[in-house]
Amino acid sequence: MIGFLRKVGRSIFFKLVLVFIATAIIMAMAVGGIVRHVADDRPYRGLIGKNMAQYSMFLIDEIGNPPKYEIAQKLTDEFRVAIRITSPGMNWSSTPPPPRRIPAEFTHINGFPNVKGARDRGRLFIEVDKADANYSFVFGRIGNQNGPFDGGIVLLIVLVVGVVLTLSYLTVRWLFKPLEWLTGGMQNMGRGDLDTTIPIRKYDELGELAAAFNDMSAKIRDQIKAKQQLLLDVSHELRSPLTRTKLAAEFIPDDKIKHQITADLDEMEWMTNQILESERLASERGGLILEDIDLSKLVADLVTTYEGSSPGVEMTVGESVRALLDSERVRALLRNLIDNALKYSGGQERPVKVGLHAGPDRVLITVEDYGEGIPEDDLPLIFEPFYRVDKSRHRGTGGYGLGLSLCRKIMQAHGGSIDVESRVGDGTKFLLRFPMQR
Ligand code: ADP
Repeated sequence: MIGFLRKVGRSIFFKLVLVFIATAIIMAMAVGGIVRHVADDRPYRGLIGKNMAQYSMFLIDEIGNPPKYEIAQKLTDEFRVAIRITSPGMNWSSTPPPPRRIPAEFTHINGFPNVKGARDRGRLFIEVDKADANYSFVFGRIGNQNGPFDGGIVLLIVLVVGVVLTLSYLTVRWLFKPLEWLTGGMQNMGRGDLDTTIPIRKYDELGELAAAFNDMSAKIRDQIKAKQQLLLDVSHELRSPLTRTKLAAEFIPDDKIKHQITADLDEMEWMTNQILESERLASERGGLILEDIDLSKLVADLVTTYEGSSPGVEMTVGESVRALLDSERVRALLRNLIDNALKYSGGQERPVKVGLHAGPDRVLITVEDYGEGIPEDDLPLIFEPFYRVDKSRHRGTGGYGLGLSLCRKIMQAHGGSIDVESRVGDGTKFLLRFPMQR
């Protein structure tokens, strides 16, 4: 509830609706006030009172002396006036009768010493004191006639207000639609979908904003694609000279120098291959070779290859799960994560834990270590190519920051996702979610 209120409080959309409702109420009050002022009938009140007094006298004459009640009832039926006649021995009321409750503010009517009048919500009360009887007349709404505040009218007002509010709500929503599209577009881009464009409604400021967003995303897309292409071209072009240099290195007589140069060349080759591999994975079908494999066996086999490593690797759950995956790629991905986990465990005693959990529509693999952890600010960036938390690359931790970017590409090619949870000093947990494709 509190969360919902906070969300509402933060929403421009709801604030606008509130402003709308407040404006409607203030406008209604203002218009009501003006109408009342303009329709002020005070100057005519005396006049109306006088006429009604005369009219009442006329009705009393009609009723006769002594009063003929059947004539009085006829007058009630014909002129919609409720009548009560009270005399010492008699108390008669018409049907419908005048209301029992009589408004307090009775005033005398000029020129008619024995007549008093009062108004109440559209009705006029006249009382005439005669020597032998007392007459009460009520003009206006009598009996069960509909008045201005009856159920039907109230329902109608509620209905009209409801319709107006609903229409304004829908209009405001419609006006704000581009903001929803914009948010969606930004989230898509944040997830790495650079081909995101959002619909444009040309005729307002939000439309301009959407156009600016599309423009910006197109430019970013072009720039990133150009960079990727450059990286790819360089990697491609490096392959032949690398092979040639490796061949030439074989002829170096000094073994130590030969060994050093060959090691460096191998590293360069590994890097170019990683870059080319990640590009292959990003292509239309990801270049995957899918087979129905026993994932639990794959993980278990892999874990056994780490026997004797420090602080060690252990598998937590051993349930059997079959899935359609590229086993080579999945193995490379897990090896990458486990290598990292060991590398960044930094003298920890507790071993790296690899977990496997099968759900109804996906498989979750976790790789968890209790090592140094990753600072919060770095977390969103570690899957970017060449991103390393410790910028100074040293032999100790090796790496070019290509491993995790490749892991993400492998997961994406499988239609899955990779996420990370980490706290500096506590450790890091990678979560791999594979969709179940049988
Ligand atoms: P590298 O080859 O540098 O390890 P990766 O792409 O595999 O490159 O990882 C990127 C960065 O993420 C690493 O430089 C490291 O700082 C951080 N990182 C990855 N895995 C872990 C982990 N398990 N614990 C702590 N930091 C990690």
